[in-house]
Amino acid sequence: MIRSNELDRIAIEDMKHTSKVRLGFSDFSINLYENTKNKILTELNATEQDWNNPKWQLKNRISSVDEISRYVNLTQEEYDDIERVSKEYRFAITPYYFSLIDFDNPNCPIKMQSFPNIKELCEGGQLDPMNEEQSNPSGRITRRYPNKLIINVTNACPMYCRHCQRRRLIGNFDKHISKEGIDESIEFIENNETIREVLVTGGDALLLSNNQLEKIFYRLSQISHVDVIRIGTRVIPTLPFRIDEELAVLLRKYKVQVSTQFNHACEITPEAVRAIDMLVDHGILVRNQMVLLHNVNDDKYCVQKTNEELQKYRVIPYYMFHPKEIKGTNHFQVSIDKGLEIMKHLEGRTSGMCKPTYVYNSPGGLGKIPLVPIQNIEHEKEGYKFTTWENKTFVKKF
Ligand SMILES: *Cc1c(COP(=O)(O)O)cnc(C)c1O
Ligand code: SF4
Repeated sequence: MIRSNELDRIAIEDMKHTSKVRLGFSDFSINLYENTKNKILTELNATEQDWNNPKWQLKNRISSVDEISRYVNLTQEEYDDIERVSKEYRFAITPYYFSLIDFDNPNCPIKMQSFPNIKELCEGGQLDPMNEEQSNPSGRITRRYPNKLIINVTNACPMYCRHCQRRRLIGNFDKHISKEGIDESIEFIENNETIREVLVTGGDALLLSNNQLEKIFYRLSQISHVDVIRIGTRVIPTLPFRIDEELAVLLRKYKVQVSTQFNHACEITPEAVRAIDMLVDHGILVRNQMVLLHNVNDDKYCVQKTNEELQKYRVIPYYMFHPKEIKGTNHFQVSIDKGLEIMKHLEGRTSGMCKPTYVYNSPGGLGKIPLVPIQNIEHEKEGYKFTTWENKTFVKKF
């Protein structure tokens, strides 16, 4: 009982903090969503049915400062800043994602990720620190590993995340892969028997139509050495209406696995969970690749709660990426010590199923490096010295 009470005190202290993290399921978030959604529907003279239609969402993305000012009162300075930034880096926010913004909170995680910020024009960072251009053997392929590679099928995304690591590819217009791009990429894989996993991504793979996707999946499925097809998509948090029964059946048919990106618990809304359920109920594996971002989620309780929410709704936390030093994203930088502190916090404090691997991307395309908070095992003269999640130590003799 003494130990049990001691553990209670730790849990209660954690809950005091995790309960303050904004959830997509909270009354606060749902009211915000309903209010802005109704404003947008009235302004655009649209229906509930339009709203739930991914094509309508894409066509009506909020992508100019004048559109923003229809729904929010901007000061002249804010107006000018958004205009200046958008000349350098375009922006586009689905009405759905826009409706989750809390305009009373300057560090609203939804706003931070979607809204142009004057700090984007600060110096620092590179366009392509991972040297993706140098990892392209053929077609639209990026290859950095012995038995897996990426095909970039589009540069388009439903929303242009302000922290995006592929900013240089976003450009000023959306472009899907060409017929030759697909042919060259598939031929390269056909001719390389080492490749067992193909990651179809971009941009956002789910901006291709089901028809286009099926053509790619079908050809990959015909290659006997390809065991796994995976897609990279952020539609679950930014355009959940893209996920419907037809898509789930298609992904199931080719046993496609899904990597997505939720960065904050407030993105895990009833709409997002409807999309997750649609996928998971069809037997599709969904894993989360979070990006650690300053003023979005660089807080141990926020990361804990976000991953607990993901586990609750059956998304497996997979990676927590350290932010790359990309031009225009300096204000999202976090120290590696901060990331390590967060990982140390997760140890033992919560379910092992809620623990992503913290990853640093090496420059020059040398690959991902998993970072572990502290060495939990040391070699001593007489045995191994272990450290527990509470920093208690003991020695196991050889
Ligand atoms: C991240 C990445 C992959 C996939 O790596 P996993 O660790 O299996 O998720 C594949 N190819 C490239 C070039 C990558 O950067
Ligand atoms: S979804 Fe991914 S690729 Fe697209 S803008 Fe966001 S971070 Fe970039």
